[in-house]
Amino acid sequence: MNRLTMATTVLAVISGLICCGADSATDTVMGNWEGSWYGDTGGEGTLSAQVINQGKGNYRAVMKADIGEPEPARGVMQGKRKGDRVQFKGTVDAGAALGGIYQCTGHILAGTFTGRYTGPDSEGSFRMKKVRKTSPTLGAKPPEAAIVLFDGKDLSRWVTNREGNPNPWKPVDGAMEVRGGDIVTKDRFGDFKLHLEFRVPLMEEARGQGRGNSGVFLPGNCEELQVLDSFGFEPSKGSCGAIYDQKPPRVNASLPPGEWQTYDITCLVPRFDEKDNMIQKTILTVHHNGVLIHDRFPAKRKTNRRHGDHFRGILLQDHGNPARFRNIWLVPLKPE
Ligand code: MG
Repeated sequence: MNRLTMATTVLAVISGLICCGADSATDTVMGNWEGSWYGDTGGEGTLSAQVINQGKGNYRAVMKADIGEPEPARGVMQGKRKGDRVQFKGTVDAGAALGGIYQCTGHILAGTFTGRYTGPDSEGSFRMKKVRKTSPTLGAKPPEAAIVLFDGKDLSRWVTNREGNPNPWKPVDGAMEVRGGDIVTKDRFGDFKLHLEFRVPLMEEARGQGRGNSGVFLPGNCEELQVLDSFGFEPSKGSCGAIYDQKPPRVNASLPPGEWQTYDITCLVPRFDEKDNMIQKTILTVHHNGVLIHDRFPAKRKTNRRHGDHFRGILLQDHGNPARFRNIWLVPLKPE
């Protein structure tokens, strides 16, 4: 290995390490972009893109433009890093009334996303800047009546699921990071409002359920509110904010991986008769980053029977990915 190759290798390793801890502040390409499109012969409107990091210098820009009625025009451009810029190419579908498919090309360079579009009837340019979005409930303080489940330091209100061993998760920067199995609250709860903050890691080359997976399991019948890196993806029964395997979120309110996000959950726990048969489902209302994604959804997993005693607390999932949680508190509700 000559000196230049060695230097290049060292740089590649360092940039690989930095990439693993990347968020949309350190990855200048990934994240939310907003701006406008401008027709060459007049007309303009708003345009946004969610740019997903897909690893090895590949990006995917999910585009939305307000040129269609009543729905915005949507499309996708694939991007590839070439030196100091990422070049994109793809299409946006404006609908039949506005000429259908527009061919788009562009690039991100030095904090600006610019490009051109060409359709059957018109052509023009676009320009966007990166925007960093945050949840309106990020950092919400627990009210007086709250039970603080994690304040950034004290791990002791949680134990390993089933065994009840001390919480093995890793304290880091006022958060706890998934490690060593699922954890569950020592306490059991009736109806409640829960606030928690989570951060999914950037796992560039992972896809689907392998991309920053964790979850919040709710007491009584173990419904999972999914935690996943779903930034820029279509909502599904497995995406972030889904009641897993039952109901997609109404909209995808995800922020990019590496950003802190919030869940504000109202949970009416299921009711069981004296033989442990369910007589009322779990009722869930959920805001993700301040956006209503479930409104009194009656959730029920396959079984009608009460799960084991250990599922009567709130459980956080170890799915093998280093997700983090912080600022977790709960306000008990009087039964309805
Ligand atoms: Mg999960």
